[in-house]
Amino acid sequence: MTERLYRNDPYLVSFTARILEVEPRGDRLAVVLDRTAFYPTSGGQPHDRGALGDGAVVEVVEVVDEEARVLHLVERDEASAGLRAGRPVAGRIDWERRFDHMQQHCGQHLLSAAALRLWEAGTTSFHLGGESCTIDLAIPSLTEEQIHRTEDLANRVVWEDRPVIARIVSEAELAALSLRKAPSVTSDVRIVEVKDFDWSPCGGTHPQNTGEVGVIAVLGWERYKGGTRLEFVCGRRVLLHHRELRTYIGELVRSLSVAPADLGRSVAALQQFQAAQASELKAQREQLAAYRARELWAGAERLREGQQPLRLVVHRLEGTHPDALRALAAKLSGLPGTVAALGVPGSDGKAQVVLTRSPELGELHCGELMKSLAARFDGRGGGSPAQAQGGFPAGRLDEVLEAARTQLRGALPPLA
Ligand SMILES: [Zn+2]
Repeated sequence: MTERLYRNDPYLVSFTARILEVEPRGDRLAVVLDRTAFYPTSGGQPHDRGALGDGAVVEVVEVVDEEARVLHLVERDEASAGLRAGRPVAGRIDWERRFDHMQQHCGQHLLSAAALRLWEAGTTSFHLGGESCTIDLAIPSLTEEQIHRTEDLANRVVWEDRPVIARIVSEAELAALSLRKAPSVTSDVRIVEVKDFDWSPCGGTHPQNTGEVGVIAVLGWERYKGGTRLEFVCGRRVLLHHRELRTYIGELVRSLSVAPADLGRSVAALQQFQAAQASELKAQREQLAAYRARELWAGAERLREGQQPLRLVVHRLEGTHPDALRALAAKLSGLPGTVAALGVPGSDGKAQVVLTRSPELGELHCGELMKSLAARFDGRGGGSPAQAQGGFPAGRLDEVLEAARTQLRGALPPLA
């Protein structure tokens, strides 16, 4: 049985105790004391951290609530070997972490109480995370104005600096209290009261006055399992969050040279501009591809003349976007009696190759041809009968294109 010192004095940082048991727990050791200031994970509040021992300090990495006992988990090493049953030991909790949990947990009570008072929205769950906290409210949705009013009420109670009283109540007293939620235990119910505002059964650690919560800020809210999930932070976390935002927004404000209030408009204008540029670029690429295709076609090798002319285009592009390669291929295949092998070396050491043909040249299968090129030149690729794409080592691009030229000539012999 461990006496829980944090219940009566959440401000107790160091204490002395006697070691009752030390037992293996997986890779670690579980140390049981006759009394402890370490809060074990329970009721949505994470465990404390800290250390045991006077000289050789043993770090407490986790604290577990196990019925009547509190287990202090420590690594199994030379230092922890000194922790033996029957010996006295000093303990010290990490106060910064504990106080942060007190701020978050008390802030949660206030936010939950405010949501219940204003919107009759009960709290179905609470999570105190490393970065932020959440509560799930039994209400399908909340407007921004409702969120603001909930924050305002909870913060007003913070700034009124009301006493927070934690005590075990008798059954008779319990029946007379207007509890925010039903207790999960039947005897020795501990009530955390925020003077004249909230009465909640809770085993957690809370500051003695609401003012120590500092401030409560909702970060966001969303629909969740038919209710509403609120993400929030309290106390020092609000300051940390503000600093983070100041950095992010500062970067944006500097790079866009606008006031913070104009960021939204400025980004929307940039997006619009960018979309217009992209469509302009696309049109220009198309136009350029059409010109280039005509030019290449005019200078192409003539495999056949007469009624069914056939021209072979083999071309290496430089410094061109793969989109431009595809656009050029599309334009070439739209010209009569044309087969083309196009390639472009990329900056990543790979070259892209496209094979294409006019629709009427059904006897030529570009996909099959690309596969055979890929097999010969260490590449990958394939495609449809009308068009195929492949990737090759950039250093072999010229060889690939020459091989494509020979194969295409062979596949489409000139008419006798
Ligand atoms: Zn609580």
